[in-house]
Amino acid sequence: MRMGRASDQILVIGGGLLGLTSALALIEAGFRVTVIEKQSDVGLGASFANGATLTPSMSDPWNFPGVHRTLIRSLFQPTSPVALRPAALPSLVAWGIRFLANSTPARHRASTRQNFRLARYSLHETQRLQDRFNLDFESRKRGVLRLFRNAGEMAAPLAVAEMLAPEGLDYKILDAGGAAAAEPQLSGIREQIAGAIHYPIDETGDAHLFCQALKQTIRRLGGEILCGTEVCGIQRRGSRVTGVSLTKGDLPAERVVVAAAHASPSLLSDAGLCLPVKPVKGYSITIDTAELGNVPTVPVVDETLHGLITPLDGRLRIAGTAEFAGPDTRIRPERIAGLLSLLGQLYPHIRKRVRDGAVSPWAGLRPMSADGRPFIGETGIGGLYLNTGHGHLGWTMAAGSAKLLADLVTGSAPAIEPAPFRATRAT
Ligand SMILES: Cc1cc2nc3c(=O)[nH]c(=O)nc-3n(C[C@H](O)[C@H](O)[C@H](O)COP(=O)(O)OP(=O)(O)OC[C@H]3O[C@@H](n4cnc5c(N)ncnc54)[C@H](O)[C@@H]3O)c2cc1C
Repeated sequence: MRMGRASDQILVIGGGLLGLTSALALIEAGFRVTVIEKQSDVGLGASFANGATLTPSMSDPWNFPGVHRTLIRSLFQPTSPVALRPAALPSLVAWGIRFLANSTPARHRASTRQNFRLARYSLHETQRLQDRFNLDFESRKRGVLRLFRNAGEMAAPLAVAEMLAPEGLDYKILDAGGAAAAEPQLSGIREQIAGAIHYPIDETGDAHLFCQALKQTIRRLGGEILCGTEVCGIQRRGSRVTGVSLTKGDLPAERVVVAAAHASPSLLSDAGLCLPVKPVKGYSITIDTAELGNVPTVPVVDETLHGLITPLDGRLRIAGTAEFAGPDTRIRPERIAGLLSLLGQLYPHIRKRVRDGAVSPWAGLRPMSADGRPFIGETGIGGLYLNTGHGHLGWTMAAGSAKLLADLVTGSAPAIEPAPFRATRAT
């Protein structure tokens, strides 16, 4: 590792998966890094209790062809897993038009392929960080099983899998018996399974534990993490960034990385930039499995019911729902009931044993870009970089996005093509 000079100072705004992985990649590249996080600790935003899966298999953006029909229907079905809240509509108009404009089959296919390359690269980078820095985050390589209760629902995911196969996506189509053999706890609902796809490439891990492990590693390597410190503005002189303003004074810097998730657009708008990223709310519950007896060991996505259940050490994480509801993290009881119902419909015998007190509910905001790809690299303002907008794939893509960013900052040749993720692209 190189020794830093004064000009090697970089500020990273945001202590979530993207800010912390960026900080570590930049430290590895020889920079002196300060992470600024407004909450009392790192990893308390979208990275806190997500679905815990790293899924290159699900690289397809959520603005799939026909998404407008799903969104319009949801206006009249407030408890459907995908919900557009009427109150949030005014704030979504400009972004929404771009979101829908990017849902043509050709654009969706192109973004899926580009995301897959980044996601697959990211798994290698996650493994490299784990090995190099001995990171413990309950990492498991068991693949992910995707279940379908109606055979017709398999067509779109299979088309994605076929398209990504030449890129390196391995997958196996299973019947109900095969699905129950892959995860024996599914035997009780075997009759309801129309088919399944197993993706061996996918992995699991606890994103919050990963953030905590990164925090310790960054500090051990000399990086600084300022928690409880909010950035109120980005300072620029002409076409270059000069630092940030904090609630208590200014912090000068020649380079700043914005990894503030759905809060990034408002920070950037002060600097004269428009970033098409909006929050899409999701929920999870985490259940202690100590008293539950045998529990599943394979992560399962129920495509029909729009949710997933991921086994972690001594816990089950159940996650789902996509609410286009603005920057609102309030927990709606009907959503938590919906996730418990998902547990009941996948593993009825386990649901019966769950006590209410053993359930920890959570809601978080996915930072969703209008074209379904993250923004990584330098903006039109010299020295001002982005690493945000990863939507439903922020855990999957974090380590790879960070290495790509560091390569762009240092001018090294990146391992994957950076153009699809360019921070200055038009969406
Ligand atoms: C229910 C749910 C399930 C999900 N499941 C998965 C999954 O299984 N796999 C997957 O790959 N992805 C998943 N995701 C998506 C993933 O969790 C996110 O994409 C990822 O956490 C985004 O990380 P981030 O660092 O960009 O955002 P965050 O973790 O939100 O970090 C941004 C940080 O910036 C800080 N900040 C904001 N403004 C300021 C400011 N002005 N000054 C200082 N600090 C600031 C915030 O406090 C926050 O800590 C899921 C998301 C949800 C909600």
